[in-house]
Amino acid sequence: MLKIGLTGGIGSGKSTVASIFEVLGIPVYYADDAAKKLMNIDQNLQKQIIEHFGTESYIDGKLNRPFLSEAVFSDPVKTKLINSIIHPATIADAEKWFREQQGPYAVKEAALIFEANAEKNLDLIIGVSATYELRLQRVMLRDGINKEAVEKRMQNQMDEIKKMEGCDFVLNNNEKELLIPQVLALHKKILQNIERLHVK
Ligand code: ATP
Repeated sequence: MLKIGLTGGIGSGKSTVASIFEVLGIPVYYADDAAKKLMNIDQNLQKQIIEHFGTESYIDGKLNRPFLSEAVFSDPVKTKLINSIIHPATIADAEKWFREQQGPYAVKEAALIFEANAEKNLDLIIGVSATYELRLQRVMLRDGINKEAVEKRMQNQMDEIKKMEGCDFVLNNNEKELLIPQVLALHKKILQNIERLHVK
């Protein structure tokens, strides 16, 4: 089973691409959703979060998301710290998930693959590319938030061009080329080259 990463900037269309893979019968692991779940159920993760951010981080065993978001969001050092706690747990969970999947390949969708050093565990990486302006507009519309709030979220992520340079395949989601045919072509290419792509 080939382990494929799917990444891109906020609003690039990762989830949209992931859902196309799902329609094709490819299993998809959503790192963001998994991390949220793990923060509520993984005892070791809870212990570390409380140790660094205080007992207020949980209320009746459930993550106090507004408190933690407020604590880390505008502080890059704290953002780095929380990521250094969550990323290894999510990587380990994804590895377990990959082992349980059937079929030629499975996809892990995550905004932060290179930032979390998760690429080492993946056979290849697909990038979803879109212009800054388009990503901004999409997230503002999707989440009903203003430009500043989106830009604040983007600060956490590495430069889009650098990110795409690190990917083995790039899907252009700039509304110039249709997305579904690109995913279909890539799916076909992966299946045709499955042996050769299994490099790690
Ligand atoms: P995030 O990192 O914030 O989770 P994402 O990269 O997963 O974002 P999506 O949620 O897939 O991005 O896309 C952002 C928004 O843009 C969504 O509302 C989605 O429906 C819309 N969108 C994405 N691609 C297209 C497209 N090609 N045409 C129209 N709308 C699109």
